[in-house]
Amino acid sequence: MADVDLIRSRLTEHPDFPKKGIVFLDIFPILRDPLVFEALISHITQHLFSHTLGLSATKKIDVIVGLDARGFLLGPILALRLGAAFVPVRKQGKLPGQCIQASYEKEYGTDTFEMQADAIKPGQTVVVVDDLIATGGSAKAAGELVAKLGGKTLEYIFIIELMFLKASSKLDAPVYSIVQSD
Ligand code: IMP
Repeated sequence: MADVDLIRSRLTEHPDFPKKGIVFLDIFPILRDPLVFEALISHITQHLFSHTLGLSATKKIDVIVGLDARGFLLGPILALRLGAAFVPVRKQGKLPGQCIQASYEKEYGTDTFEMQADAIKPGQTVVVVDDLIATGGSAKAAGELVAKLGGKTLEYIFIIELMFLKASSKLDAPVYSIVQSD
């Protein structure tokens, strides 16, 4: 089975979670099987190697930014494989030291993301990772944090992209997703 089919086959759908009318896609069954988890990490790593080599022979990814919370499951592993730094974006009030903020719209009200102010140096290249992109609000806020610190986002990476929400048009760099869902 091709790696994409294998990864897709392990996603599970949960109707009416976390509330009525929402079909939640769960990535945790992928992580329960080390062979499938490895296929996922290898797939993204291969993609990033070809992507960055395509940019220039010397240009590399300096920082992987992972989004609260499932981006923390993928980001550090990818960072180690790529020889990059890992930087978390967290919900407000969770990170120590001086932080910068960016807010985004949720279904009801707004939420605020934070990043440590010294986490990214001006000119560093960044890839943002999370499990799923829906409206793109959280990814956009993460991109704003990277830009505020002078970083350059090269790409946004997700396991799943909900295509009908057209989130990629809101972002300042291309989206790469492994599974596209309607
Ligand atoms: P967005 O900001 O609207 O793009 O929503 C993306 C965020 O919501 C990500 O952090 C996802 O982890 C989370 N999310 C929304 N729907 C789902 C889902 O069906 N499965 C897993 N995470 C989801």
